[in-house]
Amino acid sequence: MSYRYVCRCCGMKIAEIDHAMVTEGRLGFDSLTPEERQSIISRERGGDTVVRVLCDYCKDAFDQHPELTLVGNPLQ
Ligand SMILES: [Zn+2]
Repeated sequence: MSYRYVCRCCGMKIAEIDHAMVTEGRLGFDSLTPEERQSIISRERGGDTVVRVLCDYCKDAFDQHPELTLVGNPLQ
């Protein structure tokens, strides 16, 4: 089982970390609000945890075109 970081915009897999290697505190999850956790972190049926973030490519695109940010809003 692992934490799988995927881009919430383009879906690209960014990183995969084995559960045994880290704690949620180490990943900074414990500083998230419950709402943030719910929108960023999801648990798959197989036991993997999917963490939705932005990849470098999309982050750059959003920095240059802030109007695109809505596209990646998980609430939409
Ligand atoms: Zn991306």
